[in-house]
Amino acid sequence: MAEKRILLIEDEPSLVLTLRDRLRSEGYAVDASDNGVEGYERALDGSFDLVVLDLTLPGKGGLDVCRDLRQHGITTPVLMLTARGQVVDKVIGLKLGADDYLTKPFEMLELLARIEALLRRPADARLETDFFQSGSLRVDFRSTTVWRNGEVVQVSAREFKLLRYFIEHRGETLSREELLKKVWEYQKAPNTRTVDVHVAWLRQKLEEDPHNPHLILTLQGLGYRFEG
Ligand code: CA
Repeated sequence: MAEKRILLIEDEPSLVLTLRDRLRSEGYAVDASDNGVEGYERALDGSFDLVVLDLTLPGKGGLDVCRDLRQHGITTPVLMLTARGQVVDKVIGLKLGADDYLTKPFEMLELLARIEALLRRPADARLETDFFQSGSLRVDFRSTTVWRNGEVVQVSAREFKLLRYFIEHRGETLSREELLKKVWEYQKAPNTRTVDVHVAWLRQKLEEDPHNPHLILTLQGLGYRFEG
């Protein structure tokens, strides 16, 4: 199998030296960049199998690098390195498309294990199953985050489940009974009005014009169809 290529974007010279040596000794090809601007440019060509990305970098911060890569459709797994206590940033990092994070200082074996795990995930399957994008709507199934026009939209667990079911069955006509069974897990359909209420809520949050929906269409007498 061909050598896996890792791009290390990190501005701490001693850490770069240590990581580069160790990763090379593990059989990886390693390139390193000590600032966010150059690192981003290099990651943008998509030729790396993995990016190890420091959070605080000169030029362009790790969060911006990650977000911009995802916005350009680069799906290379990103392992983010954060300093101790940067909890909030970790959460944001995952929301912006990082795949995993590790807090400094870390054990080398832990880093190697995380890298191996990320490299095992098939890149295409990752895109298919973890993200959905249509127009101004973007959904990250792993972090259960929904964006509209680049802004995070707060949805309840049930709304997220319903949206996910719609996305997984886009273009299909879905009856209220089916939705109650699959999303609410009711064996018998007690009150199909529940579905209508939740669809109305999702439309309020996701449609440009909730009264003239383009994502979730009503099919008279049949149910709903997701057209995203
Ligand atoms: Ca740094």
